[in-house]
Amino acid sequence: MNEEFTVVTSFSPGRLEWLGNHTDYNNGVALSVAIDLGVTAVVTRRGDRQVRLRSASREGVQSFKLDELTQQIYGGWFGYVLGVVDLFKSDGLIDTGLDVEVRSTLPEGAGLSSSAALECAVGLALLKLSGAKMNLLELAKLCQKAEHYYVGTQCGLLDQISSLAARSGEALVIDFRSLQYHSVKLPEGLCFLVVPSGVKHSLVAGEYNVRKASCEAAARAMGVPDLASADVEMLKLHRGVMDDRVYRRALHVLGEITRVKLAISFLEAGDITSVGRLMWESHKSSQENFQNSCAELDGIVEWFARDGRALGARLSGGGFGGSAIVLCREELAEDLIEDYMKAHGKVLGDSRPMLCRAGVGGWELAALP
Ligand code: ADP
Ligand code: MG
Repeated sequence: MNEEFTVVTSFSPGRLEWLGNHTDYNNGVALSVAIDLGVTAVVTRRGDRQVRLRSASREGVQSFKLDELTQQIYGGWFGYVLGVVDLFKSDGLIDTGLDVEVRSTLPEGAGLSSSAALECAVGLALLKLSGAKMNLLELAKLCQKAEHYYVGTQCGLLDQISSLAARSGEALVIDFRSLQYHSVKLPEGLCFLVVPSGVKHSLVAGEYNVRKASCEAAARAMGVPDLASADVEMLKLHRGVMDDRVYRRALHVLGEITRVKLAISFLEAGDITSVGRLMWESHKSSQENFQNSCAELDGIVEWFARDGRALGARLSGGGFGGSAIVLCREELAEDLIEDYMKAHGKVLGDSRPMLCRAGVGGWELAALP
């Protein structure tokens, strides 16, 4: 068959940060779950050197010349895709025009990592199309690079690794120092609700950088290269040599690292109730120590705590808005959503919780080795 007519389709999912808040840039660990919503990319080679992009959620077609693609901030959704295409081109893996069509079942900007799902879906399609030999981590880093240098977001690797590496019915543990990851089995019959707070992360960039600086200050005060090189005991010993605010920021991150490790052992023991308890604790620590929650997120978590049917709830992602996640048994999910909407719907507007089940990563779906 003429390879010009080869059509390749790939899917890569969104993800939830289950536990491990702000642990990535501190070289800690996080527990994530890929969900059953994501981005599908359909890619075809063209006979010419045009790169044409279409998204089902956008009007029109975006056209570019393959030979004019360069590393720059493109300032639009196509930056994510062009970044991946240009990096494949620079590696000598793509040398023809392409038609790239994407469609998605993920809400954008809701903290479910639609951006990584988009990059990874396109990356997987180009991998299949080019027959290139790349391992999972190499593709994850290529997609991250696309987001850094063609979009301008300095993201860690949590999103790309989760979107690619998740396995069916399992959660993923990622160690950000070694970039090693492994799966932990999930008990059956669980699901997550993603509950939008209705608050945009407007202050995020500034607050995020201040939090990062506090974590670095705490590590310096303890004489370690990063927070993950310390532990809560060591932090307590150094309490007197750092500002109280810096202390509490570090306490949150080190607490999260401990909670991820505890969650792994609880999951291995099939004790989901205790994993849920860690989620409530994580949220409380966000409120009190890291101060990256907001009244709306607190309101959501408090409602589910009062209601008593959920196993756990917490803010997920950067904080200061965005979404909360709720862990519950699947047979209770629909009733919980309806009751939550009766209590909150009118006040918060577009606040309907989304039901997500654990999904499969793009690598396994693409049947890559
Ligand atoms: P998140 O990754 O949490 O969803 P981001 O702001 O990192 O939020 O990424 C959202 C951006 O990704 C969108 O604004 C858009 O540019 C791009 N994007 C995601 N999905 C699609 C899609 N299906 N079509 C076009 N662009 C998309
Ligand atoms: Mg993103």
